[in-house]
Formats: sequence, structure tokens, C-alpha cells
Amino acid sequence: MAEEKRDYYEVLGVAKNASEAEIKKAYRTLAKKYHPDMNPGDKTAEQKFKEVNEAYEVLSDADKRAKYDSYGHAAFDPGFGSGGFSGGSGFGAGSGFSGFEGFGGANFDFGDIFSSFFGGGSSSARSGAVDGDDILVRVTLSFEEAVFGCKKEISFNRIEACHDCGGSGAAKGSSPETCSVCRGTGRVTVKQQTMLGFMQTQKACSACRGTGKIIKNPCSNCKGKGYVKITKKLDVTIPAGIDNGQRIVLRSQGSVGMRGGVSGDLIIEITVKPHSLFVREGRNVYCEIPVSFSEAALGAEIDVPMLDGSTEKYTIPEGTQTGTRFTMRNKGVADPSTKRRGDLIFTVTVETPQSLNAQQKKLLQDFAHSLGEMNNKKRQSFFKKIFK
Ligand SMILES: [Zn+2]
Ligand SMILES: [Zn+2]
Repeated sequence: MAEEKRDYYEVLGVAKNASEAEIKKAYRTLAKKYHPDMNPGDKTAEQKFKEVNEAYEVLSDADKRAKYDSYGHAAFDPGFGSGGFSGGSGFGAGSGFSGFEGFGGANFDFGDIFSSFFGGGSSSARSGAVDGDDILVRVTLSFEEAVFGCKKEISFNRIEACHDCGGSGAAKGSSPETCSVCRGTGRVTVKQQTMLGFMQTQKACSACRGTGKIIKNPCSNCKGKGYVKITKKLDVTIPAGIDNGQRIVLRSQGSVGMRGGVSGDLIIEITVKPHSLFVREGRNVYCEIPVSFSEAALGAEIDVPMLDGSTEKYTIPEGTQTGTRFTMRNKGVADPSTKRRGDLIFTVTVETPQSLNAQQKKLLQDFAHSLGEMNNKKRQSFFKKIFK
């Protein structure tokens, strides 16, 4: 064989018994990944792109796939005697010929990312329905916007059928005509003189660029393509309680499907900015509240910050230790689907007084003497553990 060819199923990363839909899906993903427009100047990507197109050309066609399943790559070798799809001459089987052109890859229109999906190279793509692309949009919300929900205007690019020509590509009052060169098949058979003799190969029809149709009077809005890329603006309602990393899927708001294909989805991925005070874990929110030494010792009614910016009173008991947690039920974030609210959990940190004047120090010393040794339970048990 001319070159080591990878197994077509392996190239597309699908199982031998993959369905047509699975093959198509894998192809679309890979073709986009390796498309030369996405990888300018990357020879490896270009090679992969050709390989993927070649594999798809065969596996997407029931006939060719059956031949491939029976004979492997030999089925399409130009020298394969029993006539692979190329109508090879049977001349010089396995003799190292490597310039074979007959697959979509070699004729692929590199110029337009959409050409593969909208009638560029391969005949299977031309006749079959093509699903529209899903579109991912990332939206960043403030902590509050996520907690309480909001409306966001989002802007994204999508492909739509041209409104002027209804997607036909032909100017108003005209319609596309069947290509006379390929009689609408989008493919032409070419005879080539090679060092091995005459080769019959199939190529995309250059007259109609493989579409099978000629548009004599192209629509000026889409320049005959039948589709346009537009910047779409959409008001989206973000539900209260949405969290970092969650996605909202708007069905059929992605790029339009072609020739009966379904439209893609618009996927909105949410990033939530951190809050200066609150940390969120699911429906619960946490914060730290500093209290003074005397508030902690005597007990106090303190202001607890709420998610909406207000405060609520909460009474901490006498003798509250630093690090004590208090839970305020149902003051957390609502779950977007069940609407049940989580809790607000705050931790008290006791601030030790600093920069005391002489009088304050004296007061505190008197206070310490008045306590004697009986008031520091933790400290006493600590020393008991050391000196027992
Ligand atoms: Zn148009
Ligand atoms: Zn044609």
C-alpha cells in the first residue's frame, strides 16, 4: 500500500457499529476541530482534516461503508481490481501510487468553515440534512444577580437562513437551477493520465462547487449562500439561585439547520463573581461576623448582613466563644427548581481590644483579678492535661 492508513472508524473515534447519526456527529466535531481556518499553517491539523473527511466520505455512504467493512482500505485503492468506487483501472495493484484524488478531503473547499456543512465538498453533505451548530455563550453574574435572578441581554453570532431569499441563495423572483455539468449530482468523473495509466476519479463539480445547483442570479444579501451570519441579541431570564458553572440551554436558539436539519441550541454558561462577605455552597451561604470582647462576654444583639443588603438582628448568648457558628434558617439561596431556601450560617470572631490607654488597662487588670482562677474552663482543662 502507498501509505499506512488509519482505520476510518478509529479516525472518527466511533464504534464499528456506529449509527449514521453518530458518525455524522463525530465528523462534524472533528472537522471543526481540524479545519484549516481554525489551525492556520498547522500541517498536522490539515492532514488530520483530510483524514477525517476521507473517513467520513466513506463511512457516511452505506455502499462505500459496506465495501470498506468487507475489504478495508483496499476497497478504495485505485488498483483494486474489483472496482472500488473510484472505478480504478485495475492496473498495478499495491504498487505505491499515492496521488489518488477521489475523496472529499482532497477537493475540500478550505475557504469557508461552513462549506463542509452547507454544500461544499462531499456529496453526502450536499444531499443530507445538516443540523445547526450549538452555540456556547459565557455570562458573568454578580453574586447578587445569581442569588436573586436577573435579566441579561446577551449577544452572540449565529447562522440564520437568509431572510431575503428564504435560504435558496437565488435573488427574488428566481430560483436555483440544476447544474448542467454534473446534472445535479455535484460530482464529476475525471479521467487522468498518470504514471500507472488512466485513472477515473470523482471530483466535486467545479461549476456548482459540488452543490448540484447553479444560481444564475444570486441573492445580494447572502451572495448566493442561502445563509447569513448575524449578531443576535436576546433577553435571557436568569433564574434566581443559579450557581457558578451551571448552564442554561435555550433549545433551537443556536445556528439554523439546513435542508431539514434541526437548529442548534444556545448554551449559556454561568460564572458567578465572588462576594466580599459571603461564600456560597449550594443553597447555604457562610460569613464571618466580628464581635467585640464585651459583646461576646455579655451577650448582645448583633446585626447580621442579609443577602439582599439589609440586616437582621440576632442575639448571641452570654459567653459566646470565638469561632461559634450560628444558623439562620431559610436565609440562604433558593434552589432554582425547588425554590427551597438554604440557610445563612455565620461564624463569630471575637476581637481582642487593642491600643488600650492606662486607665483601660488598669480596669482590665482589676477585672482579671476579680475573675480569679475559676472562669477559664478551657484553659484549666488544658493545663490539667499537661500537668496531670
Ligand atoms: Zn439570500
Ligand atoms: Zn455541478
